[in-house]
Amino acid sequence: MDDSRETKAVVGTRRLKEAMDKPANLRIITVANQKGGVGKTTTTVNLAAALSMGGLRVLVIDLDPQGNASTAFGVEHLENPGIYEVLMGQMAMSECAQKVKGFPSLECISSNTSLAQAEIELVPMVAREMRLKDAIEELVAVRARDAEPLDYIFIDCPPSLGLLTINALSAAKEMLIPIQCEYYALEGLSQLLKTFDLVKKRLNTDLKLSAFVLTMFDGRTRLANDVADEIRKHYPNELIDIPIPRAVRVSEAPGFHQTVMTYDASSPGAIAYMLVARELAARSKAFDSNVVSIHYKREGGIA
Ligand code: ADP
Ligand code: MG
Repeated sequence: MDDSRETKAVVGTRRLKEAMDKPANLRIITVANQKGGVGKTTTTVNLAAALSMGGLRVLVIDLDPQGNASTAFGVEHLENPGIYEVLMGQMAMSECAQKVKGFPSLECISSNTSLAQAEIELVPMVAREMRLKDAIEELVAVRARDAEPLDYIFIDCPPSLGLLTINALSAAKEMLIPIQCEYYALEGLSQLLKTFDLVKKRLNTDLKLSAFVLTMFDGRTRLANDVADEIRKHYPNELIDIPIPRAVRVSEAPGFHQTVMTYDASSPGAIAYMLVARELAARSKAFDSNVVSIHYKREGGIA
């Protein structure tokens, strides 16, 4: 059966199983926006799920005390140790990684409300902005030793620009910004970008603004299209121009401790997230070529 005769949904589900481009180097992506309810967690868990289904090794760090990503993945997060214990130095990250059921290679570092104290408890600590980065380095070293290197780490941020988000931006190589195509979508964006610039200048010179994802898009409204046009105009290279539709299946899935990728793989929301994940993976090449050229120059220098 050729594509033209298949329905969009069938094409979508079939493509879910196609392998995705494997990055040459681990990608660490912080999903940030200090506004609440814009789709950070939904985007994080569904992109992670889609990449995992595409054959890649993925880890999600739930850095929000609300623990929504942990809930969506159905991992135990009220009793088990998670990111709070890791940031406080009580546990190694490699000891806390929990497998997400139903996926070949998807893991989660869970969080719960105790993480809310971390914002305060981190303040007097040495190198308080670097705690997450150090913890990730431990995990990456363990995985390299076990010959099970990760392809992607996603960090789901809380809705603030406090120390947790600063830790996430210090630990990441990339920032992904979900934009809710609604009123006030762009309000606060300049503050987020200021924080990004500050972290890049002072704490993490390698950090890149790599992607915008349009969430909860309703193409029938003029407003949603205006927001999309605005991002398209200012960030043509960063925008992944595949809007995620506002769709009831997407919002139902966490209630069943699932991502929409497993809850209803042929629904429009799942297909859109799969296509965005595919585009994100395809863009690894641009990323890799930068990294490769840097390595090459360094080696050349030594020789
Ligand atoms: P954040 O993490 O930024 O606070 P969430 O990802 O939790 O935002 O999303 C906020 C709410 O919107 C949640 O109830 C979620 O289920 C819902 N939601 C997110 N994306 C969609 C979508 N594409 N369609 C319908 N509901 C959505
Ligand atoms: Mg969230």
